[in-house]
Amino acid sequence: MTIETYSPEETFALGEKLGAKARRSQVFALLGDLGVGKTLFAQGFAKGFGIQDIISSPTFTIIQEYQEGHLPFYHFDVYRIGDVAELEEIGFEEYVYGDGVVLVEWANLILEAMPQVYTEITIIKDVSQGFDYRKIVIQEINETGVKP
Ligand code: ADP
Ligand code: MG
Repeated sequence: MTIETYSPEETFALGEKLGAKARRSQVFALLGDLGVGKTLFAQGFAKGFGIQDIISSPTFTIIQEYQEGHLPFYHFDVYRIGDVAELEEIGFEEYVYGDGVVLVEWANLILEAMPQVYTEITIIKDVSQGFDYRKIVIQEINETGVKP
């Protein structure tokens, strides 16, 4: 599924919509270059999930934990992670295979630690379409790779 947004608000709203639909143990990978809107999307997602107090910038923290929703919500930003061993130390697996909902910014950097099944969300800029234009591609990943 591909969605196009033309403002930060629209991307936030899309995150909100997906966050409201997130279910127990679901994992989301959030991909895209620096500054495309991953964190903004994640904040919309958190709001839709039922989080009131959204922490503004998790860029300097690898994990932001929210316990106030109907399920725990874990927002990871693994941009600064050195290697997968560092992730293991944090207990990444326990979050991923737990009851909570996990969203991972820069999941492409830690692919070997990702579960076999997750939803991949890729945000792409195309300045030829305008500075605030974003193409957002959502696809389900399973054991066999990408689902058609
Ligand atoms: P990332 O986490 O991918 O590095 P951020 O979410 O921190 O990116 O920042 C995205 C920036 O892009 C914000 O300043 C936001 O206002 C801006 N922006 C402009 N247009 C859009 C859009 N359509 N969707 C998302 N962000 C947008
Ligand atoms: Mg970010």
